Amino acid sequence: MLSANEKLRFSRQTMLKGIGEQGQQALKNARVLIVGIGGLGNPVSAYLNAAGIGNIYLVDGDTIDISNLHRQILFNEHDIDTNKADIAAEKLQQLNTSTNIEVLDEMLDAELADYYLPLVDLVLDCTDNINTRYLINQKCIEHKKPLIIGAATGFDGQFMFVNPNQVDSACYQCLFPAEKKAPDNNCQTLGILGPVLAVIGGMQALQAIKFLTGNTVKTNQLNIFDGLNNSWQQFALKKQQKCPICAG
Ligand SMILES: [Zn+2]
Repeated sequence: MLSANEKLRFSRQTMLKGIGEQGQQALKNARVLIVGIGGLGNPVSAYLNAAGIGNIYLVDGDTIDISNLHRQILFNEHDIDTNKADIAAEKLQQLNTSTNIEVLDEMLDAELADYYLPLVDLVLDCTDNINTRYLINQKCIEHKKPLIIGAATGFDGQFMFVNPNQVDSACYQCLFPAEKKAPDNNCQTLGILGPVLAVIGGMQALQAIKFLTGNTVKTNQLNIFDGLNNSWQQFALKKQQKCPICAG
């Protein structure tokens, strides 16, 4: 049940037909794991926390650097050299004291994934490391956990939704087979603008809220944003029958 305070707090959300009090209750009960609390993990965790997701796991072993501050808006100059997940948890808790926030101040590996994935309803990949991206994809398929992947560099970004509980849902490996390897581009080598991360992180958070409240989120669709031309393109994906991760 939502308290009187919660009803007031989330009234602008619950008045939406696709959400309602039932949807808000679903958000309150939800358990979400966010991997990477950097440029994407900042807006994703901020919006999901504000929206009333009841249980949030934040995973990041990295510390805050001065070169993060132009885009990682939860952090300030006093936070430099401290752990990203720790500081994000502190800031998020100030906005909503009711959220249960658990911090994992280390990089995700197979063992941690095997322990934490069974505890959650949804995973958000907000990393910028290609090996971790493949690992998250593989572990989400193994544990049958829905996954929202986001990535951004320069003026561009992309996101996709993988649902292992849907038979024909393509996974990240179907799109970029590991032997060919997706290009390992990241913010350190290519640069990035903060607002591009806000767009992609916002879209990831939006998909998460839609999914958790029972609204449709499309699988088999790669959504690509071009921030210079202000355009979106959608590419249809197909589950690869020989995919070593999700087929069979
Ligand atoms: Zn696959």
